[in-house]
Amino acid sequence: MKVLKFGGTSVGSAARIKDVVDLIMDRGRNIIVLSAMSGTTNTLVEISDYLYKKNVAGAKETINALQAKYDGVINELFDTDDLRDRARAATGACFDFIRSLNKEIFTLFEEREILAQGELMSTTLMTLYLESKGCNAALIPALDFMRTDKNAEPDSDYIREKLTAILDANKDADLFITQGFICRNAYGEIDNLQRGGSDYTASLIGAAIDAEEIQIWTDIDGMHNNDPRYVEGTRPVHQLHFEEAAELAYFGAKILHPTCVLPAKLNNIPVRLLNTMQPDAEGTVIFNAPPTGTIKAVAAKDNITAIKIKSGRMLLAYGFLRKVFEIFETHRTSIDMIATSEVGVSVTVDNERNLPAIVDDLKKFGTVTVDRDMVIICVVGDLGWKNRGFEADVVNALRDIPVRMISYGGSNYNISLLIRRDDKVKALNLLSQYLFNKN
Ligand code: ADP
Ligand code: ASP
Ligand code: MG
Repeated sequence: MKVLKFGGTSVGSAARIKDVVDLIMDRGRNIIVLSAMSGTTNTLVEISDYLYKKNVAGAKETINALQAKYDGVINELFDTDDLRDRARAATGACFDFIRSLNKEIFTLFEEREILAQGELMSTTLMTLYLESKGCNAALIPALDFMRTDKNAEPDSDYIREKLTAILDANKDADLFITQGFICRNAYGEIDNLQRGGSDYTASLIGAAIDAEEIQIWTDIDGMHNNDPRYVEGTRPVHQLHFEEAAELAYFGAKILHPTCVLPAKLNNIPVRLLNTMQPDAEGTVIFNAPPTGTIKAVAAKDNITAIKIKSGRMLLAYGFLRKVFEIFETHRTSIDMIATSEVGVSVTVDNERNLPAIVDDLKKFGTVTVDRDMVIICVVGDLGWKNRGFEADVVNALRDIPVRMISYGGSNYNISLLIRRDDKVKALNLLSQYLFNKN
């Protein structure tokens, strides 16, 4: 059994839903994970925002517009009044539920309930359409088996146990449809796996059922060697190591959610990235033994802040770095990059929520400077230290760009460079030119 996840654009219109149905009906008894139709989750966030701000008119208008969009999709997708009525009744119930959450006190709890409606609607429409095509698809509600524990980590034992029981109870199903992204938390409340988290759902399900393969179907033919949003002429990388994929996903390659890699890697399940619009394209397979000896791809992570602590007196004293890191731990802020020298240490963080408090505490240990609007450029491939020349190629490609920090040797797969936001697009293009299009 395989797990096939289809992202927002893959189910973003009636035509795309029909294409996905053709594709999954051909591929056997698999578990299909769906995102919300593209744009829906953003709109649900917007509705919640209006409700937080007590702008009831704004919320109502946005809900009505979204419902009209779904009505249009339903009209196009189904060709009988009976099917259209059933589909409109199902999505209508979701919209009525959203309207009912216009409460005096609107909290994170209500927001999560609203955000869940996108995946609930896309899976209902897809299941009904499959039924109309004569496919016996079982809609298995993610809220019945996908659960996180008190640390907001997936409860793998619970997921495996519940999911296995649900699959066993549906022995005559041709295939299974479920929602990505949504789950229940340790208190039984509706929650989610963070934006873009449908990839994580697919990977957790893959691990729970020991799937043959996890397929992430999206709008591009695999992981490209650079970010196609900023660089022209990028090409798919056909094979990646789990660690390489993890580095790229974490450092900005949006095609894959970073959390998706670990469950697959731990259970040694290959992850294949495929294109719904070009189902026969080779795409990318992520596994344990891809080819070595090359640089594979480049990605960029935005909104980075660099913090430098200068202290000639204390840096080399043992325990100094621990004290510095403890401050970040206390303020629940993770560090991405680190560079040290005799007189200072620089680190980067990707959220500024607790920055004032962190800077305040760090001042006990030295002079603190902060550089905002930075970007981490991450180059991924066979970057083991005994290889020669790859680091030189990377640095050489960026010789005309000011580089604030470099981190190399943390893993065999990555070299990271911190540059200014304004230099990002130029840096990505230069790296493509020097690393992948040399002649
Ligand atoms: P989905 O809605 O299917 O989850 P996403 O929008 O999350 O799709 O991810 C697909 C997008 O990721 C692509 O359209 C592409 O613009 C972007 N992307 C960023 N970096 C890369 C990369 N290195 N390779 C492929 N796609 C990338
Ligand atoms: N629908 C959710 C989002 O837009 C989850 C996902 O698409 O992966 O973030
Ligand atoms: Mg995605």
